[in-house]
Amino acid sequence: ATSPDLSPARQPDDPDAALRPKSLAEFVGQRAARENLRVFIEAAKARGEAMDHVLFFGPPGLGKTTLAQIVAKELGVGFRSTSGPVIARAGDLAALLTNLEPHDVLFIDEIHRLNPVVEEILYPAMEDRALDIIIGEGPSARSVRIDLPPFTLVGATTRQGLLTTPLRDRFGIPVRLTFYTEDELLKVVSRGAGLLELPIDEGGAREIARRSRGTPRVAGRLMRRVRDFAHVAGDATVTAQVADAALTRLEVDSLGLDAMDRRYLAMIATTYAGGPVGVETLAAGLSEPRDTVEEVIEPYLIQLGLIARTARGRCLNEGGWRHLGLAPPGPAVQ
Ligand code: ADP
Repeated sequence: ATSPDLSPARQPDDPDAALRPKSLAEFVGQRAARENLRVFIEAAKARGEAMDHVLFFGPPGLGKTTLAQIVAKELGVGFRSTSGPVIARAGDLAALLTNLEPHDVLFIDEIHRLNPVVEEILYPAMEDRALDIIIGEGPSARSVRIDLPPFTLVGATTRQGLLTTPLRDRFGIPVRLTFYTEDELLKVVSRGAGLLELPIDEGGAREIARRSRGTPRVAGRLMRRVRDFAHVAGDATVTAQVADAALTRLEVDSLGLDAMDRRYLAMIATTYAGGPVGVETLAAGLSEPRDTVEEVIEPYLIQLGLIARTARGRCLNEGGWRHLGLAPPGPAVQ
């Protein structure tokens, strides 16, 4: 069984918060995003204006929340944070918006999960800095427009395409985050090991980096688990061997795939003869929500080239068969 805390998905009690970089200079990787943000931040500060609205999109654990906090910090403004599913009624959002200080950053995680009624409130808020609210009910109901302070909305979502077009169009600065390279994760691990006071050599750090699924949040989790194993085994320093032994016991394989990733691959291979198979079918077979399959499990497997998303469903690529130690059925498989 996979220990669920190795998943790249966020947990309610976020133990990684201590590892969050606090400035753009400290933030590793995502170079294009960082350089663009720096320009927009400087320009907004020079003009004394609120920065344009930003949308961060990409798989979980790549640093969307971290960057949102950094944007507020670098702008020198307040940071308010909420998430799409938490804002149940239009009034909740209205309360948040009217309580902002001028130029504040309002961060909405999982913004694609906003209730449509709440989302409609956001359109005039983003575009005209105004709130149209209905007071009263029935024939005596009337609409009142309230001006809002200038603010920056920072939204985060796993895929840009999950947003409705009107919402997506209102973000002036869309920023895509991509999986980190091994060298970038090596820096993340080395920095994190310092903060966690984990004695580790370069080989140990590289082993963790290589098996972190391209994701800083996973790197943080693996580091903590490896630290536990090293501690119990009495290893003074985490070397490549120590890290490998711990990661193998955690069922994190040479590519960084966990037990769930392998169950997913094995299901396509053995139950569906390599595919194509629909995502709903796979999700049901794995007893996982479809969102988790599409947003958490699949992106990295696609990045590694192990599977392909096709119009007819998911297919196992040759690399996927080989990773399972199976021979691809024939040259027709691609
Ligand atoms: P997301 O919002 O995309 O799910 P987070 O911003 O919450 O991801 O990042 C998850 C964790 O990964 C953070 O707590 C932080 O410890 C770490 N992290 C993310 N990006 C970086 C980075 N560029 N450098 C170092 N650590 C990072």
